[in-house]
Amino acid sequence: MSQDKVKIVLQEEDIPRFWYNVQADMPNPAGPPLNPATRQPAGPEDLSAIFPMDLIMQEVSTDRWIEIPQEVWEIYRLWRPTPVYRARRLEKALDTPARIYYKYEGVSPAGSHKPNTAIAQAYYNKKAGIKRLTTETGAGQWGSALALACNFFGLECRVYMVRVSYQQKPYRRSFMEVYGAEVIPSPSNATESGRRILAENPDSLGSLGIAISEAIEEAASRGDTNYSLGSVLNHVVLHQTVIGLEAKKQLESMDAYPDVVIGCCGGGSNFSGLAFPFIPDKLAGRQVELIAVEPTACPTLTRGTFTYDFGDTAQLTPLLNMYTLGHDFMPPGIHAGGLRYHGDSPLLSRLVHDGYITARACNQTEVFAAAVLFARQEGILPAPESAHAIKVAVDEALACKESGAARAILFGLSGHGHFDLAAYDNYLAGQLADVPYSEEELARSLAALP
Ligand SMILES: *Cc1c(COP(=O)(O)O)cnc(C)c1O
Repeated sequence: MSQDKVKIVLQEEDIPRFWYNVQADMPNPAGPPLNPATRQPAGPEDLSAIFPMDLIMQEVSTDRWIEIPQEVWEIYRLWRPTPVYRARRLEKALDTPARIYYKYEGVSPAGSHKPNTAIAQAYYNKKAGIKRLTTETGAGQWGSALALACNFFGLECRVYMVRVSYQQKPYRRSFMEVYGAEVIPSPSNATESGRRILAENPDSLGSLGIAISEAIEEAASRGDTNYSLGSVLNHVVLHQTVIGLEAKKQLESMDAYPDVVIGCCGGGSNFSGLAFPFIPDKLAGRQVELIAVEPTACPTLTRGTFTYDFGDTAQLTPLLNMYTLGHDFMPPGIHAGGLRYHGDSPLLSRLVHDGYITARACNQTEVFAAAVLFARQEGILPAPESAHAIKVAVDEALACKESGAARAILFGLSGHGHFDLAAYDNYLAGQLADVPYSEEELARSLAALP
């Protein structure tokens, strides 16, 4: 009977009480962040101008389990546990013996996995007496998640939104403003970093790296204000592990265990949140393949360099030990805006470097084809970011058709695409092109590594 299920749902009391910290189990620890001036490991004092101490401690913790505060858990109850679906209609359409499961994070109020960390970050900042948070947003998903979280905890929220998205995605801006956030197009005149870019290029469309510089500069210069980052950092990845912890329990209830776990990868947080809870099993000898999927237009894990680099364009952040395309990398304007970051989580980078996790890159036209196939079979309109995971899950399922193997495939559907219909319009009109990053551009931005 239970084997027949389409939706595998848990009860509210099944929401995890602890986050899983992969730092406890990594065979080789990730390199510590370095102070950009001294190039020595950054201490808490290097970070305390912009982050509360609880988050700094999580950043460096090697405790395996970190308790989820009750206040955070109570808010998680608004949409967690999220469902796992068995994609039966997709399986049939592909005529595959594979079993395809997906964990759907699009049921959160912001429509993606990002509130899992936004809620936690707002909570710890509130607890530390902070009154305002600044952040950046590209496509708008992170800004909406933080706006939501600040609203719940009575914090002011200022979002520097990459100018091109600000102009192209007015409804994302409205969404953030409904939650009470202030949204400023970046580069702006509000910060030194923004003014410097505008002096060089008054028509700059902005980038995530520039917007991060603006948000950090403001947070560092005000005592009542901290900065909040939606991906990449260890504490962000930690908060996202509720995804994988729930998914494991859901598959267990079906007597299933994945042969392969797939997620899309921008800064690495939703993928790591889904995949890291499987790392202890893998280290204990269990066969489970973990695959991070990125766009060919921003191929950080598949074509970047594993080294130390800045997290932002203006070189304000500590140096992070990660795969990077170079901090002044300007990704082409693909539609999966959430996957256009030049770097990746240091924890994920280390595990990729050491061979525990593999990476693949996909072109956006094939990604949109997979998204439309998925929408027509399963009904959910996926975010273009999430569709990268769908594409590889479909490839894996088709490989099973070839080989006859009935593998269990689990992928992360990190969000819905209701704010991305302009991209679907483009695709359906046949106007979407593939924009692989050029070798010369790659060489140029890598030459600028510190
Ligand atoms: C932001 C976003 C991503 C990419 O960020 P990660 O930190 O790599 O998870 C992926 N999917 C959706 C829906 C997003 O909003």
